[in-house]
Amino acid sequence: MNEVISQLITLQKIDLQLDTIDNEIKQKQDALDKLAALLVQREADIAQLNEQISALEQERRILDLELSEELAHVKSRQSKMMQVQTGREQTAILKEIEDGKQGIKEKEEKIVLIMEEVESLTAQIARQKELVQEEGKNLTAETGSTKETIEAIIKNKEGQDQNRQQHASQVEAKLLSKYNVLRERRNGLAVANVLAGVCQGCFMSIPPQQYNILLRGDRHLECPVCQRIIYHLPPDDQE
Ligand SMILES: [Zn+2]
Repeated sequence: MNEVISQLITLQKIDLQLDTIDNEIKQKQDALDKLAALLVQREADIAQLNEQISALEQERRILDLELSEELAHVKSRQSKMMQVQTGREQTAILKEIEDGKQGIKEKEEKIVLIMEEVESLTAQIARQKELVQEEGKNLTAETGSTKETIEAIIKNKEGQDQNRQQHASQVEAKLLSKYNVLRERRNGLAVANVLAGVCQGCFMSIPPQQYNILLRGDRHLECPVCQRIIYHLPPDDQE
């Protein structure tokens, strides 16, 4: 096989391994970020529940005030009842007292509903706080272990980085720069085999004339569709 092709194939193999390692690091970091985001969301939920409680308590204070005014009013109407003489006056005051009592009943019912809701929200907050504590501990532990894992991966990677540099230095500068650009633009795959006339990078057919050149095995070309560096290596010869 052509030496240049062999160098490129080896380099790409190393680079793909390095990509896998980088992906592994990214996945671990992402998992950690997700845990942290969950915790932030939970804190925000707690703050929102607390706001709901504050609003309900405000409503309750107003109702308490209205209730005591209504009670005072009913009481004063009841005293007034003792002093009135005519039946018509009595009927009017009785109506006022009945209305007052109805208002008191409605307000008391509203207050009970508010108290129940505050109780339920308080229980939700307690549960969320428990979860925050659990997840906070979990995050701390995960942060520590992820950091260790990533450090170990990076340390292992150093040897492979050196290996990569060594192989890259063997490739002619212009070709290497083309290879690097292609890797960036073509999702990590700069070099592709052509099998049965089909580029294994983009899976498009290449012109028969170019395929015939590749079949000789001593040259590499550029895929007319994806611009990858293409070569031909029979499936059996591939490692
Ligand atoms: Zn192609």
